[in-house]
Amino acid sequence: MTIQELLRKHKIDPKDQKFLRSVFDFAEEAHKGQKRASGEPYVQHCLHTADSLATWGMLDRSTLGAALLHDVPENSDYTLDDIRKKFGDDITFLVLGITKLGRIKLRTQKDPTYIETLRRMVLAMAEDIRVILIKLADRLHNMNTLSALPRGKQERIALETLEVYAPLAARLGMGEVRGSLEDLAFPVVYPKEYNKLVAQVRPRIENAQHYIPRAIKEITKVLRLNEVYYSKITGRIKHMYSLYQKLQRPEYDHDLDKVFDIKALRIITDTVENCYSILGVIHKYFRPIPGRIKDYIAVPKPNGYQSLHTNIFGPEGKYIEIQIRTKKMDEQAEFGIASHWAYTETGKRKTGEHHRKLKKLEWAHQLSEWQKDNQDNPDEFFENLKIDFFKDRICVFTPKGDVKELPDGASTIDFAFAVHTDLGYHCCGAKINGKMSKLFTPLKNGDIVEIIEDKNPKVSRDWIDHTASTSARGKIKSYLNKNKEGFISRITPGFIKGKQK
Ligand code: MN
Repeated sequence: MTIQELLRKHKIDPKDQKFLRSVFDFAEEAHKGQKRASGEPYVQHCLHTADSLATWGMLDRSTLGAALLHDVPENSDYTLDDIRKKFGDDITFLVLGITKLGRIKLRTQKDPTYIETLRRMVLAMAEDIRVILIKLADRLHNMNTLSALPRGKQERIALETLEVYAPLAARLGMGEVRGSLEDLAFPVVYPKEYNKLVAQVRPRIENAQHYIPRAIKEITKVLRLNEVYYSKITGRIKHMYSLYQKLQRPEYDHDLDKVFDIKALRIITDTVENCYSILGVIHKYFRPIPGRIKDYIAVPKPNGYQSLHTNIFGPEGKYIEIQIRTKKMDEQAEFGIASHWAYTETGKRKTGEHHRKLKKLEWAHQLSEWQKDNQDNPDEFFENLKIDFFKDRICVFTPKGDVKELPDGASTIDFAFAVHTDLGYHCCGAKINGKMSKLFTPLKNGDIVEIIEDKNPKVSRDWIDHTASTSARGKIKSYLNKNKEGFISRITPGFIKGKQK
């Protein structure tokens, strides 16, 4: 792919084309001579990342520019300051966010609380949702080119994808991205289970591949005959990982015969009325399977998904799922939160110009609106995403990349105690992001902190005023209690008096 192809494919605003070309030239220069493990020039990765974002409807110059530059600070001789000088603050802010996210590494242990912390942290770190979207596009291309990497690295990246990034995509309503990430990771993380499932399902898939085009032809015929408008009919085979998870559920009991949506047709039309008309026409010609009609238009799924689903005995008497929705619902199902930005209130696609106005508050607002719409089906995602989550908690790293979640206002002391109680007692200073810092320095989201220890415990009463976490405070107090003298004489003279009587 070339930059020209990218700009043309997505009909980028001519005003932005010149800018993005100069961003690309810079990225190409920065990654000059570098190759991906697959042997491709490194900039191909940058172009593919930007291409995914544009496909999802993120067409603003900052998002696309940051996608092109996202690996520059970590993978070249150029720095964030170079980017700022050349391309300004907005892009730099996004690139910084992605660089910080890149430091998070999932260890191979499958500890659910660790993974949940990681997920929360990914969200907290990405104070602008565009950072998460760029990261998802980056990860999608990395997963597509995963086979070029050594086995161990493949496993770590695939597990992280399955445990962190795919669920994030799901919770942002990005169904297709989630499906692709999962299907790319599945064979690497669970090879045995994957091979078993593929062997089991292969005959059905081969069947479906022949059947789907014939079914599309038949359905097209009846829709035309009844003169009901549709814009597109496509076929899809269920994502493997999603099938795997479905079969694990007790009501399916590993029985493929109980899964009715292995093959499905998707019919796209213009209005809600036409969705129902199409459903009517289809039921007129093909008998529906009782109890298998779902109206997610009237009652959307918690992540906002809208569509009509029906399982029918389709052409040739074989059962197949039919999904009917408007173009807007379809883009929402595929691209989720990204697609919210692709539309104005009037339903027209936005141009790049509008995207520039998107700021942190706007997406936070959008998420909270989204949450309100789905109150009867609360999702922990929304719990974690409450706007004050960003205010209340910060995530700080050890030099090895472990994550500590701390209350806002936490200092190096809080961090030392969060790593280890003993480290707390002996802490006498810290390096924050590589710079020597004072003991009580307040920490910021994303800081990397290395605690400096002294042989002797350093705890003193005034530490309490410089801690924000209950647990650190508790540990300091209990330490001072055990070593009562200094504690009592300095802070509770009244108590000493009382005791002396
Ligand atoms: Mn990358």
